[in-house]
Amino acid sequence: MKIVSFSRNVFLPLTRTCRNRCAYCGFRRNDFMIMSKEDVETLLSRAFNAVEALFTFGEKPEVYREFRRNLRKLGYSSFIEYVRDMNVLAVRMGFLPHTNAGVLSYNELKYLRPYNASMGLMLEQAVELDCHRDSPGKRPEVRIGTIKNAGRLKIPFTTGILVGIGESFYDRVYSLEVIADIHENYGHIQEVIVQNFSPKPNTPMENHKPPTLKEMVETVKVARDILPDDVTIQIPPNLVNFIPLINAGARDLGGISEVTPDYINPEHPWPSIEELKVVESFGYVLRERLPIYPKFVRLGWYSDEIAEVVKSNSDGEGFRKI
Ligand code: SF4
Repeated sequence: MKIVSFSRNVFLPLTRTCRNRCAYCGFRRNDFMIMSKEDVETLLSRAFNAVEALFTFGEKPEVYREFRRNLRKLGYSSFIEYVRDMNVLAVRMGFLPHTNAGVLSYNELKYLRPYNASMGLMLEQAVELDCHRDSPGKRPEVRIGTIKNAGRLKIPFTTGILVGIGESFYDRVYSLEVIADIHENYGHIQEVIVQNFSPKPNTPMENHKPPTLKEMVETVKVARDILPDDVTIQIPPNLVNFIPLINAGARDLGGISEVTPDYINPEHPWPSIEELKVVESFGYVLRERLPIYPKFVRLGWYSDEIAEVVKSNSDGEGFRKI
């Protein structure tokens, strides 16, 4: 049985403030705003069908004085503490957090781990690229360091490559080999996102050509050859015609939200679950998963703090209990 999975999520962009300036980014908005606890609670309470609370936001926003001032107004001196409290809130409301906070230290990952079912950091590409020249957090060795530390802490982890941002075909191959090597050492990579660059208006790369579907198919095929069998390839169904990529070896359609947009690509709405079911007419079975992949549910790679939510939402195989 060929399974294609997805996760029902609610997207919580705690802040758009970010220390980096990636040339393709349409998300960053250095307004130093922080999503309030009340807003987090309201969004979570609307997402009654979802299990995954996706916390994605700008990297190291506290480098800015104005951000630190706003943080203090909320009663916090550290943003990671605020993130963890929002993770705790989500768990108490019956959700499983997946936090994507950019580069984190070993101790920061360890601090967030008990209240996260999985965490993530896109590698993007394991080579220096011009689009990242003003982004200290996009230095490959820094990102590889975070992904390895997550492995040391046995955190089920999502990473990925961004395709078409100025890298060569061999850069892509190298980036995928780096991820494969990390997984061979730590065994914690649950999925690798193969994401196509999508130009955003009013960014330095607004006129940069996105990759073609043919290039994406080739990249997914190469990824399937390079990555170990227990690492799933995810593709974003709102950014690309996904059937050819599923046929090329991808097996996950990522997080779909019924209540929040894709804040990173707001011009591309999520398909509905009904629309994802088209995979069934191509011989695949669509199954809903949790933010922690079935294999890691079965292995028990989760903390006591979230064990009850994992167990009450998973079936015998580790997929979401329907
Ligand atoms: S892509 Fe991410 S890391 Fe880069 S500027 Fe945007 S929010 Fe920051």
